[in-house]
Amino acid sequence: MSLILLENVKKTYISGEINVPALRGIDLSINPGKFISFVGPSGSGKTTLLNLIGCLDKPSDGRVLVAGSDITRLNRQTAAKFRGDNIGFIFQNFNLIPVLTVYENVEYPLIMVQNVPADKRKKRILDLLEKVGMSDQKDKFPAQLSGGQKQRVAIARALVTEPKLVLADEPTANLDHHTAYKVIGLMHAMQAEFDTSFIFATHDPKIVGEAEIVLTMEDGLITKTQENPINREVN
Ligand code: ADP
Ligand code: MG
Repeated sequence: MSLILLENVKKTYISGEINVPALRGIDLSINPGKFISFVGPSGSGKTTLLNLIGCLDKPSDGRVLVAGSDITRLNRQTAAKFRGDNIGFIFQNFNLIPVLTVYENVEYPLIMVQNVPADKRKKRILDLLEKVGMSDQKDKFPAQLSGGQKQRVAIARALVTEPKLVLADEPTANLDHHTAYKVIGLMHAMQAEFDTSFIFATHDPKIVGEAEIVLTMEDGLITKTQENPINREVN
């Protein structure tokens, strides 16, 4: 079964008197356990598409199925529960909570969304912090970390709920190239370990080659699908 299935998906934003057609008919099927990148210039519709797949917004037309559920049928509350159970998010600005430590930031979704008991929580958080190489920073606050370190914490936070799918919108936009490659490498390692699908949007052509499947977007449409052989050392 497809993890994600989109059928003739359209999204038009209404901005005052003007209609902005952001997606103009997207058909897409994505299997579980993949590493996929949407690329395309600013304004091509990448964020809009990720928001639909992430159940943060609904299409104007067409169907969006994630893990077999038709997200157009979810109300606000069931959508929130569905996201908490199935999807992790990684953002361009990291979006860590400044008053919480590294440990508490990773713990947060487990308390808020999934109600995981304390002993299980602790093990999962410490395991993930170890995997992203942030164990020794666990008591620091976000302001004390570099951009790359923040994004590693955000990766741990996205994975702590053991989601089927992680969505990352321009996750490397605020990182230097060396750090960007390391962060992408870490996502690959996590994909291999947990069989989680990663979907990221980027307009950085340099990191495009890091994805298994590259979908090019232009003006609200997918105009090219390209498969890359992935055979790289994670460092
Ligand atoms: P990308 O992420 O590829 O830069 P977006 O999905 O953000 O593209 O935007 C696609 C188009 O939709 C752009 O023309 C953008 O200006 C427009 N758009 C995005 N969000 C909104 C919104 N909330 N209201 C009106 N127009 C929007
Ligand atoms: Mg965007």
